[in-house]
Amino acid sequence: MPEQDLCGRCGQPLKSHERISVANVGLRCYRCFNEETAAMMSVDFDNTPLQPVTVADADDVEHTFEFRSMLVPTGHALYARERVPEGQEGYEFSVLGDFDANPWDLFRLLYDRIQHGLAVRHVERGELGWRITDARHLVGRITSDPDRAGEIPLLVIDGRPFTWDQVGRLLMSFEGFTLRAFVDDSIEVIGGPLLKEERKA
Ligand SMILES: [Zn+2]
Repeated sequence: MPEQDLCGRCGQPLKSHERISVANVGLRCYRCFNEETAAMMSVDFDNTPLQPVTVADADDVEHTFEFRSMLVPTGHALYARERVPEGQEGYEFSVLGDFDANPWDLFRLLYDRIQHGLAVRHVERGELGWRITDARHLVGRITSDPDRAGEIPLLVIDGRPFTWDQVGRLLMSFEGFTLRAFVDDSIEVIGGPLLKEERKA
């Protein structure tokens, strides 16, 4: 394995979604990054690693999620990422709490988000391929399409990637209708400086 794929502090091998490149320092795993950042910011950060969990979706298909904690300038972020083969897209959920948030409290809220997220279907298979469900409500995480040099979005709907072309096809069964779209933050803010600012406003 080439040297750049190892954490520069603990030497652990890193997959692409597991590494953080720290300016002028080098690559870090999340655990080392958090410990170093907590020490630098003089905050008490609970770095308890969380075990992967499996959650069934509306069709009883099981999805396994891996968790990672990250100390960011706006608090303690907890990310859940579906375990999918390297380079593939799946479900992702995240919550942002206060710096000294109890990871179990964050986990419970995130787990709730995962369960709710997996219980909803925005698209379903019809006779002519994928279609938007009768709720006519399409929600997807915007990511970039690696086959289009990152210039065109790939939309992850119900944990499944749809190319921009496929999204267009989904909409074509509603020709003549109106599309109302809004773009929302992926992370749910439940504590920390961002929430305090929101409450002040
Ligand atoms: Zn490390």
